[in-house]
Amino acid sequence: MAMAGLYSFPYILPSGRLFAPTGKRLANHVVFCLFAGGIRNFESIGKAEGNLMPRMLSGSEKISDAIRHDIEELSGLDPDLQALQKNGALYKKFRFNNTATLHYAGHAAAIMGVYAPNVPLMKPLNYPSLNNEYLSSQFNPWGLGMKANEDIMSMYAATKVLSQFKPELMVVNMQHSDIGHENFTSYCNNIHKADFAVSRLWKTIQETPGLKDDTVLIIAPEFGRNLAPNSMVDGNGKFAIDHTGDDNSQQIFCMVLGPAGIVRQNIEIASQTGETIDIVPTIAHILGFYDDIPKSIVTGRFLQEAFV
Ligand SMILES: [Zn+2]
Repeated sequence: MAMAGLYSFPYILPSGRLFAPTGKRLANHVVFCLFAGGIRNFESIGKAEGNLMPRMLSGSEKISDAIRHDIEELSGLDPDLQALQKNGALYKKFRFNNTATLHYAGHAAAIMGVYAPNVPLMKPLNYPSLNNEYLSSQFNPWGLGMKANEDIMSMYAATKVLSQFKPELMVVNMQHSDIGHENFTSYCNNIHKADFAVSRLWKTIQETPGLKDDTVLIIAPEFGRNLAPNSMVDGNGKFAIDHTGDDNSQQIFCMVLGPAGIVRQNIEIASQTGETIDIVPTIAHILGFYDDIPKSIVTGRFLQEAFV
């Protein structure tokens, strides 16, 4: 469900900002990564199936026996790219604070800073494969070959844009974990791939002069998934999970990573703190245009806990 046609390229706003910067900046670059597709805290930071995100999260919890054989290993673990959370703050009880856990509404909240439960549901096109085939013929992201899913290809393209253009603001979206509607193990495998992709994004930032030490990376799922599974069973006997607005589908995490002088290092915020609509004001504060955002519409707050 909802996978067809969802192919997301990074989009950038290198110039022509909506608001002129009037305040002091914390950094000159922000990358916001939607770790999207509807991901439950159980499988991400809760590690209910083991640490599926060893590049982002601390801990070596073994992937559960039920699904381990279907989780693809991805080029080993680079010691420099393990536990990215040490480079910043992990909000463990972040929230998409609205029952409209629909992808378009989720993206709207993340990008606009407003919960918009009635945003019209656009239908994806029925012929998405041209893009995919073109990209498959052009790209072999990080040597992964057929292991590269759409999220990894999107992120690979994002790293190329980042290193070449050094945009002040980039938003990159991953969506492939949404296969969780029909296959739980594939959902876990795609969380694992999204984790790999984020680690390469971080590596690109650290290796690009002008971005290193001057970029804040914010990562958050658009929302979670339900507590109760649906009726679809995968080959490992695991039930799939939708996202229909229950409390669990509103529970997510958020990671704010950046240089030590700007972002607090290696902290976890365990209490219920922060929500999706806080990300836009936070980016505005980082880039110095917080005073110019319309507070009557954008009611979120600066995520100050993450910053020095
Ligand atoms: Zn979905």
